Amino acid sequence: MSSIASLLEKPELGFDDLVVLLSVEDPDEVQLILDKGQEVKKKTVGNKVYLRGLIELSNICRKDCLYCGIRKSNDKAVRYALTAEEVLQSARFTYENGFGSIVIQSGELLGETFVKDLEGYIRAIHTAYPDLLITLSCGEESLETYRRWFNAGANRYLLRIESSQSDLYYKIHPHDLFHSFESRKQALEDLRTAGYQVGTGVMIGLPWQNEAHLAHDLIFFRELDIDMVGMGPYIEHSETPLYDSRDVLWPYEKRFQKSLLMIALLRIIMPTINIASTTALETLDPKGRKKGLMAGANVVMPNVTPMAKKVNYKLYEKKSGLYTDSSASLEKVRQSIEEAGDSICFFNPGISRHFSDRTKE
Ligand code: SAH
Repeated sequence: MSSIASLLEKPELGFDDLVVLLSVEDPDEVQLILDKGQEVKKKTVGNKVYLRGLIELSNICRKDCLYCGIRKSNDKAVRYALTAEEVLQSARFTYENGFGSIVIQSGELLGETFVKDLEGYIRAIHTAYPDLLITLSCGEESLETYRRWFNAGANRYLLRIESSQSDLYYKIHPHDLFHSFESRKQALEDLRTAGYQVGTGVMIGLPWQNEAHLAHDLIFFRELDIDMVGMGPYIEHSETPLYDSRDVLWPYEKRFQKSLLMIALLRIIMPTINIASTTALETLDPKGRKKGLMAGANVVMPNVTPMAKKVNYKLYEKKSGLYTDSSASLEKVRQSIEEAGDSICFFNPGISRHFSDRTKE
C-alpha cells in the first residue's frame, strides 16, 4: 500500500498527517484522497444533496477586507440593497422550487436600521413559508442582534473565519478594531450561544498561505466542532489591495486542486457535517461544482437574487453565474448534481447530521 493510502486508513488524522495529505501533487495520489472523501460521504451523509437559495441582500459594507470586491473603499462598486419585495420574491422562488432553505448573505452593516430591516424580512419569510429554513451570512454582529434574528426565525449562520491563523488573517485584513481576529472568533462563539447551527470556512490559495495554514484551518473546524463549512478558492479582484500581491499566488489549477483536497479531507475528519460546493469552485473550473460534490460536498447554493442586482455582488472577478437567472442557475446546478451521481433532496431543509447528533439528549 502506498504511504498515502495507509495514511488515509488512520483512525484520526493529526496536523502533520494533514500537511502531508494537502501537499500531495501526484495525480493518482490526489485521486486516492478525493475518492476517499467520496467514499466517506456515501457512508455517512449519503449521496443526497441539499439546495439553498442564495439571496445576496446588499453589497453595502462597513468593512475593508483587503481581498473583497465589495469592500468599503472600492469606489467602483455600484452599491445596492434589495427591496422587501425583492427579498420575498426570491424566497418565494426558492420555496416554490422545493429548495427547503435559503441563505441571506450581505455586506456587513451595524446599526438599528439594518438589524431591524433584516429582522422584518426574516419574520416575513418565516411567516409566509414556515417550512423554509433560514440561514444568514451577514457578518459580525452583537450577541443581542444574533438573538433577535434567531427569534425572528433564522436558525443557521455562516461566518467564515477566512483564515484560522492570526498572522495570515492580519495580512488579508486591516489591523484595526473593525477587523479584529479575536472579535471574529468571539462572533462564532456568540452564534453558538444564540442557538444557531454554526458554519464557518476559509479561502484557499490566499497569498502567503501554505499547506500548514490549511491543515491548521481543518483542525480549527474540528476543534470548534462546527456544523457546516463553506470554503473555496481565493480569486483576485483588481480593485482591491491584495491584487498587488498576485505574483505570489498559486496558479488557478493549483488553487482549485487544493480546494478539492480541503473538501475531501474535511469530509474524512468530520464525516457528518454539511459541506458546500461553492460558486468560487465553479468559477475556476466549468465542472467545479460537480467535482466539489465528488470530493465530499453535499450542499449547493443556487443564486436566486434578482439579476439586475446580483451583477453588482462582485466579491471577485469572473464570478460564475452573474448573468444567469434563477431558473437557469437551478438548471445548471441540477445538471452538476446529476453528473456527480448524486440526487437532490427536495423539500428538505438539510439539517446538518452533525448538528442533530450534537444536540440529541
Ligand atoms: N459579510 C459577510 C459575507 C461576506 S461575502 C461575512 O463576512 O460573513 C462571503 C464570503 O466571500 C467571504 O466570507 C469570503 O470568504 C468570500 N470572498 C470575499 N472575497 C473573495 C475573493 N476575492 N475570492 C474568494 N472568496 C471571496
